[in-house]
Amino acid sequence: MNKYSLTYAQQLDSQDPLAEMRQQFSIPKQDNGDEEYYFTGNSLGLQPKLAREYVIEFLDAWQARGVKGHFEGDYPWMPYHEFLTEQAAQLVGAQNNEVVMMNSLTANLHFMMVSFYQPQGKRTKILIEDHAFPSDHYAVASQLKHHHQNLDENMLLWQPRQGEELLNHDDLYKIIAEQGDEIALILLPSVQYYTGQVLDMKTITEKAHAKGIKIGFDLAHAVGNIELSLHDWQVDFACWCSYKYLNAGAGSVAGCFVHQQHAQNTELNRFAGWWGHDKATRFKMDNNFKAMPTAEGWQLSNPPVLSLAAIRGSFDVIKMAGGIKALRQKSLKLTQYLLDLLNQELNGKITVITPTAEHQRGCQLSLMINKQLIGELGIDGKTVFNRIEAKGVTTDWREPNVIRVAPVPLYNSYADIYHFVRILKECLV
Ligand SMILES: *Cc1c(COP(=O)(O)O)cnc(C)c1O
Repeated sequence: MNKYSLTYAQQLDSQDPLAEMRQQFSIPKQDNGDEEYYFTGNSLGLQPKLAREYVIEFLDAWQARGVKGHFEGDYPWMPYHEFLTEQAAQLVGAQNNEVVMMNSLTANLHFMMVSFYQPQGKRTKILIEDHAFPSDHYAVASQLKHHHQNLDENMLLWQPRQGEELLNHDDLYKIIAEQGDEIALILLPSVQYYTGQVLDMKTITEKAHAKGIKIGFDLAHAVGNIELSLHDWQVDFACWCSYKYLNAGAGSVAGCFVHQQHAQNTELNRFAGWWGHDKATRFKMDNNFKAMPTAEGWQLSNPPVLSLAAIRGSFDVIKMAGGIKALRQKSLKLTQYLLDLLNQELNGKITVITPTAEHQRGCQLSLMINKQLIGELGIDGKTVFNRIEAKGVTTDWREPNVIRVAPVPLYNSYADIYHFVRILKECLV
């Protein structure tokens, strides 16, 4: 059967148990009033109507109660971050005592490195991937500098092979086998932001630990996208933001995971603040820091409840959909449908650099327009991106040559994908 028809896409939508979830979101509109074909949930998730509602509830409570809002109402501010713990833990496969929503992603990476990067003797190196997100790269470089470690010698880069886009795990295992004794920390993404490649976190963690290396993951593109089992995999720490697949709004409060075996170690070096201090005695104000034996022990400040309220709205919507398992189930089909249509309709015109095997990809596909074709058309990849945008498709462009497209199971439809491929095809002639 020909999959490339609006009728076929609409039939898939009518059979989709999560189709109704789209109603929980506000979908941006094109100039002509039609809804956009929005494929950038990997960069900024759309607004859940509940997020808006809970933010307004918070503003009302503040207006009505002033300082008493800390303790009064259904969702008092003092323990507000705790209302998010269980769902955050489920999203990353953790125990409740291993996660906390706090700060921002890059800030949390630094705070985790304060605890997990402690160069000693010849074990001084940090291993990252060559195409790490700039913020992660800068954070690692500045940690090395902070510890007076020479950058050239101590920042190890795991690179794709010559002429390849994807990271090859064997190359990483070779670096670990050969230089493992000198590596103090490995920091890797779970889903690579440019290619969409999912790394084998379980095996990588085992290999790192076998050599006595601490390992942390940046889950920015993984949380809310794929299933994770941080506790069982024995990952040491992980950090993620909440505005991509978690739909909590630009710059919203981030998440952090510290494995129980470390969280319980209250002697572990850290940068401390009063919100990480034992709850029972926090307000005694006696200046004897006593870290909580959980991930909360890394908190510094009382958190911005305005932002936590948006996260609560977003988490409630994810829960309504059946959690990450249900999202992933739909996501695999949705992205497969996109792959199928691209293969069928644009074969030879575009290349998908994202791995196609299910366990190696999430929602996102990264597309490259065939160089020869754009030469013939006398345009460049960026122009194609601009053309589809003018026709109501929101994707994103990543230098040097990639269009990232992320169908999101919470609000994207099969019809959205049909229209994306139709429009891309129209723009490639
Ligand atoms: C989105 C993203 C960031 C953004 O960092 P912020 O501190 O939230 O600004 C960092 N790292 C990765 C891998 C990302 O994808």
